[in-house]
Amino acid sequence: MTDKRPSSDTPRRARPCPECSKLSVEPFYPFCSKRCSDVDLNRWLSGSYSVPVVELEPEDLAELEARQNAEDPDRM
Ligand SMILES: [Zn+2]
Repeated sequence: MTDKRPSSDTPRRARPCPECSKLSVEPFYPFCSKRCSDVDLNRWLSGSYSVPVVELEPEDLAELEARQNAEDPDRM
């Protein structure tokens, strides 16, 4: 799809916000607001840190086992 004609009705830099698809505004380009800009930034940061979804600490596991043993004394 080729469109080389300058369209006067659509501003050159106008494009939908990647977060909410609203029209972007100059100060937060290409986002529509500070909020959406922050959302994207946070996604970037959390992605680079590769935060685990759920991680059990060894102490938690031990406590879990202890609790199970207490509930079920015949197991051992
Ligand atoms: Zn937005």
